[in-house]
Amino acid sequence: MAEVTIRELKKTYGGLQVIHGLDLDIPDGEFVVLVGPSGCGKSTLLRMIAGLEEVSSGRISIGDRLVNNLPPSERDIAMVFQNYALYPHKTVAANMGFALKMRGMDKAEIDTRVKRAAEVLGLTPYLDRYPRALSGGQRQRVAMGRAIVRDPQVFLFDEPLSNLDAKLRVQMRAEIRELHQRLKTTTVYVTHDQIEAMTMADKIVVMQGGRVEQVGAPLELYDRPANTFVAAFIGSPS
Ligand code: ADP
Ligand code: MG
Repeated sequence: MAEVTIRELKKTYGGLQVIHGLDLDIPDGEFVVLVGPSGCGKSTLLRMIAGLEEVSSGRISIGDRLVNNLPPSERDIAMVFQNYALYPHKTVAANMGFALKMRGMDKAEIDTRVKRAAEVLGLTPYLDRYPRALSGGQRQRVAMGRAIVRDPQVFLFDEPLSNLDAKLRVQMRAEIRELHQRLKTTTVYVTHDQIEAMTMADKIVVMQGGRVEQVGAPLELYDRPANTFVAAFIGSPS
């Protein structure tokens, strides 16, 4: 595990600046939720941590490694997206192990990791099935399984639940939290849903317009919002 440290981070697309000199500390082992309205730069920030997007300037470190110039595969992170695509012609086990196989890990080690992740996620009975035979929640768990088997230092989630129905979303929130209790992997979780943020986070980062408005524990933000934006955002119905 490792902390993520972000210093003076900027991102410009063409002439448009979308991240404005952002500083942020994601402590080792914490579950940190980035929240804010659509377009405020949450995905851009996450993608820069992942290495899927270049930084315009500033520094991103994972543990004591400056990762700015490392490709995603060398950052020791695993990302779960909203629009995860499973391989339709591979079993659950093969879907979960595929990235490891591509990296040349031996089969016995892959099997061990896939079985362990399946157990954690309640997927053991489904390992030989194909994605089409799974429910939405089970598919989401397979997507998480692909991240878990890599045993990364940092998990990055970008609105992983937004395609699920409301009931399943509530259940998956609890499951992802339980997973974090077990693995204690440093997690950066993006959502635009303040209820999701309030119920899941150790610490919430409220963003607006490419800037951090406030960082604090859920109750802290609720009791002592730093400004009217935070108060309105946290207090508004989802
Ligand atoms: P969020 O995830 O908070 O909804 P994003 O990080 O996706 O916000 O987007 C932040 C801003 O950057 C938005 O104004 C968006 O239009 C812009 N943006 C994101 N990706 C690109 C891109 N590839 N090219 C140009 N502009 C982009
Ligand atoms: Mg986004």
